[in-house]
Amino acid sequence: MTGIVFDIKEFAVHDGPGPRVTVFLKGCPLRCKWCHNPEGHSSEIELFWKKEKCTGCGLCRQDIEHELCKQLGRCWHHCASGALSISGQKWEAEALVERLLSYAPILNDCGGGITLSGGEPLFQPEFALEVLKRLTTVHRAIETSGYADETVFLRMLEVVDFVIMDIKLADSDVHRSYTGVRNEEILDNFARLKASHKPHLIRVPLIPQITDTEENLSAIARIVGDSPVELLEYNQLTPTKYAMLQKEFPLGEIAQPSKVDLSIFQNAKLLKL
Ligand code: SF4
Ligand code: SF4
Repeated sequence: MTGIVFDIKEFAVHDGPGPRVTVFLKGCPLRCKWCHNPEGHSSEIELFWKKEKCTGCGLCRQDIEHELCKQLGRCWHHCASGALSISGQKWEAEALVERLLSYAPILNDCGGGITLSGGEPLFQPEFALEVLKRLTTVHRAIETSGYADETVFLRMLEVVDFVIMDIKLADSDVHRSYTGVRNEEILDNFARLKASHKPHLIRVPLIPQITDTEENLSAIARIVGDSPVELLEYNQLTPTKYAMLQKEFPLGEIAQPSKVDLSIFQNAKLLKL
């Protein structure tokens, strides 16, 4: 079984308990306007283009031989200036597991593990579940938007040790206008997560004047109850990633952040990346 991965980050410190090796799967059904991983949206392999490095030589469009480069219309192998790079690589589940298990001894020694992230890892459900199922000798976590079919979500809960799940906006109409989907399915999956008693962490991205309002955070606090929460500060570098993918940053200008009152939550902390 094959899947598309766009990054493997070694020894990440914010992706679950202890140091982690995090695998980013390509593809996501949401389109959060603040998303800082736009390369994770499409489940297809894509080209990154750094305008500031491009000399305009045109070599990337000549004598294209590789099958993948033909599909992409440009050959990144021909680019000597480093302006072109590829986002996404096909992996066999078995080969990916073999690579990930090579980290197991050191991760186990220091209380860490493997995390599947994205994009939305459950957007490639069979691949993600197959990888998780095979990682039996190491702690397994997933970072998910929670937007997944009930059956897939329940199957996922059986093969992970820890779940990091986003709850971004409490109002479903507002959720749809900023992420492209309503939130009922996400909240139903949160209820399933809570009922499973699986160790978990809820993440709330603090997007100025959108998710960080007192009204939204109070509503989320009521939904999550005593679940641990991390409030994630907005990443100011996000717009540059959109430029590299030659996409427009959907939020345009970012407003001034609100002052967040952590005491709204039973159990929350602020995370600055
Ligand atoms: S080969 Fe590289 S530097 Fe030349 S035009 Fe293509 S992207 Fe730009
Ligand atoms: S769910 Fe995550 S990866 Fe998907 S669009 Fe939203 S922020 Fe980006």
